[in-house]
Amino acid sequence: MFGAGNPSADLMFVGEAPGFHEDKQGVPFVGQAGKLLEGLLAGVELRREDVYIANVLKCRPPGNRDPQPDEIESCEPHLFRQIELIQPIVIATLGNFATKLLSGRPLGITRVHGQEQELTIAGRSVLLYPLYHPAAALYTPAMLKVLEADFARLPELMGRGAQPAPLAVLEQEPEPALAAPAEQLGLF
Ligand code: URA
Repeated sequence: MFGAGNPSADLMFVGEAPGFHEDKQGVPFVGQAGKLLEGLLAGVELRREDVYIANVLKCRPPGNRDPQPDEIESCEPHLFRQIELIQPIVIATLGNFATKLLSGRPLGITRVHGQEQELTIAGRSVLLYPLYHPAAALYTPAMLKVLEADFARLPELMGRGAQPAPLAVLEQEPEPALAAPAEQLGLF
């Protein structure tokens, strides 16, 4: 299961690994955690089609066990190539595995969630934004509250990395009325 969504997305999510249904359908986050993710996206006026969603692992670990170091290592080049192609402004990592891999730091999600970090990934500057994994928040109301609060900052973070508006107004010819004083100055 490779990934899905808008290939020109400004916001990319990176989860852990496909589960049973994701593996079968070839689509990330189709189960309960996916429903929660869609609800959180709706809360910031985004739809699944607006973002790109990938995982650290491209195959389901047997029995949904944790990804192992050699599996992460094998899948890593594919994730970095996805980031290179999509060129997101913000990468929101969901849970420990994606956060540790992309931040390059061993700090856990409880410690770093909601703390954006400017990084160079695949040769481009990107804002890494660690979030709790929706599957973890499904049955822990306190964690869900934190996830919702962290999610609410996404529009601000995406705006921060956006290109400034073109300076079209400054490039226009001056209006005749504005040009007149300059011409008059030239007479002295
Ligand atoms: N959990 C993940 O981390 N990824 C998925 O695609 C589904 C559930």
